[in-house]
Amino acid sequence: MTSPATSAGRRLGQLAELPVTVLRGVGPGVAADLAELGITTVFYLVTHYPRRYIDGTRMVTIDQLAEGEKATVLASVTRVSAPPSRQGRGRRAPARVQVDLADRGGRIGVVFFNQAWRAKQLPVGALVLAFGPVSSYRDRLQMVNPTVEVLRGPDEGTTEDGGPASGRIYPVYPLTDKAALTSARVGRLVHEALDRAGEFADPVPGEARSRLGLVDRTTAFAGIHRPASMAEVEPARRRLAFDELLRLQLALVLRRQRLHEDARGIRHALERAEGGATLIEQFTGGLPFPLTGAQARAIDDLAVDLGGPLPMHRLLQGDVGAGKTVVAVAALLIGVEGGHQGALMAPTEVLAEQHATEVRRLVAGLVVSDPSTLEGRRPLQVALLTSRTAASERASVQAGLADGSVDLIVGTHALLTDRVAFDSLGVVVIDEQHRFGVEQRAALRDKGRGDDGTGRDPDLLVMTATPIPRTAAMVVFGDLDMTVIDELPPGRQPVATAWLRTPLESGQAWARVREQVGSGHRAFVVCPLVEGSDKIEAASATAEAGRLADDELAGLRVGLLHGQMRPADKEQAMDAFRSGELDVLVATTVIEVGVDVPEASVMVIEDADRFGIAQLHQLRGRVGRGGEPAWCFLLSESDSPESTARLEAMERSTDGFVLADVDLELRGEGTLLGARQKGRSDLKLAKLLSDRDLVVDARGLAVDLVDGDPRLDDHPLLGEELRLFIDDDEAEFLFKS
Ligand code: ADP
Ligand code: MG
Repeated sequence: MTSPATSAGRRLGQLAELPVTVLRGVGPGVAADLAELGITTVFYLVTHYPRRYIDGTRMVTIDQLAEGEKATVLASVTRVSAPPSRQGRGRRAPARVQVDLADRGGRIGVVFFNQAWRAKQLPVGALVLAFGPVSSYRDRLQMVNPTVEVLRGPDEGTTEDGGPASGRIYPVYPLTDKAALTSARVGRLVHEALDRAGEFADPVPGEARSRLGLVDRTTAFAGIHRPASMAEVEPARRRLAFDELLRLQLALVLRRQRLHEDARGIRHALERAEGGATLIEQFTGGLPFPLTGAQARAIDDLAVDLGGPLPMHRLLQGDVGAGKTVVAVAALLIGVEGGHQGALMAPTEVLAEQHATEVRRLVAGLVVSDPSTLEGRRPLQVALLTSRTAASERASVQAGLADGSVDLIVGTHALLTDRVAFDSLGVVVIDEQHRFGVEQRAALRDKGRGDDGTGRDPDLLVMTATPIPRTAAMVVFGDLDMTVIDELPPGRQPVATAWLRTPLESGQAWARVREQVGSGHRAFVVCPLVEGSDKIEAASATAEAGRLADDELAGLRVGLLHGQMRPADKEQAMDAFRSGELDVLVATTVIEVGVDVPEASVMVIEDADRFGIAQLHQLRGRVGRGGEPAWCFLLSESDSPESTARLEAMERSTDGFVLADVDLELRGEGTLLGARQKGRSDLKLAKLLSDRDLVVDARGLAVDLVDGDPRLDDHPLLGEELRLFIDDDEAEFLFKS
């Protein structure tokens, strides 16, 4: 901070150019410790926010503690004794560290067993926060093995800058074990940075700030790092969270804008030139059921996009079993109608194979016009292409795609990366499961344009396998339009769900399986997920199928399905289960999506705590499709708070949108956003669940700002800031002229 702040105020971009070593007392050692926390510049320092605060004004003093209660004490270490534990071969005495803490109210003894390192962690003079039950020992109050947080080392200031009794607020910064820093040390560096930075320039126009009730940026940084009272924290957090969300939405809105600017979309034909029923009319007319209102509305949405000049970028959300596949196929058929090709991409090979079977069944009997044939018509061609497709088959599918004789292709994203050339790719549907990123979507467009770049941009429909909350979708899929299928086909019954916690209780599940098989139904048993090893997972499923056939399910016809089986064997197992030759299918999660057996009425999920809510909900969605009662049993002996919360939520609700909220609340946004797209790790303070209003506000402002100013020329500060959070390729794309 060698240059003074300009009259317009300090820009974050300036701070990003200052290494932390410009701060007092930061040499190579401290710089290395800071780097452990990801803090290399002053910008990263001031955006390293406290994890929580300790409100010294509301602390109970030691003299007010009572035996038997759980308490938090803010006090200084006055004495440490750690009798050296005996070394050698003999029995070792448990390490016992005794620490005395004092505040203005009194003293309390703290004992740590088997935590010898505490002696080092808690030197005399350190200011600490201890949390735990208060007990007594020889008439003196004490705490045994409390949770301890060091707020300040002994050499990090005295009561002058606020001791335990001074009533100030202590921010607690996130630290790692590796970084030899205390929270107070980080806080002091932040103070210095803020002092030297002075007033911040504010990229959000004053009018918008007051309309949205946001404090200015200088106030926000002060309020988050050094609040005078707790009342300052939340307004500060909201403002900084808004900035995070605004940057994100700006990136998304700009991305859309760029895509539209140089789009070369296809206006798909919605009617037949020569009259007669269109493919889509034939298709919906041939379905064994009428479309639900929501499906019909969704298809209307898509048709408007598809018939328009800009390529469609749409997200299709709907609960498990809502009937998204039919809508997807309708979109693909609109493309085929005009002589283009459609592609359906699934995240895994197994799912691609299942989709191919499903799509073939749905479009069976449809005929497309083909002037090169004698009749001028031929059956619609569907092909499957995955990395498992045999070489000869692959060659012929590729030839068919290149000459246009394959109308619909189903595959994994290998469709995009392989040397696959299309005659004319018109519509792409991605069955998403959050696995496709922006990069792949760009690859898609390139597929449409072809090697010579003369082709056009295919229309894109992204489907979520299970719902995600609407505001979360705005963030994760904010560059897409959204359609929600908010209605299930008629006759669906909620699946009765029970969490069975002991082997004894599990008996209920097996009894229900026997009963249902007895009355002509079928059951799935899902085996434990084995993270990272398909082989072990397959082996354990095989063993479990054998065990069940010999034991709980003796006498029933038990089959096996796992991802390591050859495609032909898998198909055979599925067919046998579908046709009723098998009563029970013991499977790994390969059955998660796509499997559709209306007679299946029981789903038993073993070690259910290993699965996430979305996955459990998907699995449960495999039963209850036949309009008759259905059951789902979650077997798990886990009693961890997280799995309890998940499994209880599953018992409580069968609504995917409700469960999506619970999931978000339990897991936080981290997993949802993941490393899916760059520029999204920026969300440090924004909470997708509780900050829904901010998400919507940020979206609105981003749209307003970009409207009429597509490169943010009138808001250079925002443009500069955005670049701090996105990578060079993205910046190049968003700001190219
Ligand atoms: P998801 O949205 O989970 O992908 P699917 O597309 O797999 O759902 O559809 C679930 C089941 O509902 C399938 O058996 C499908 O044939 C059936 N289905 C779809 N639409 C309807 C409808 N309008 N009426 C009755 N059944 C339907
Ligand atoms: Mg589906």
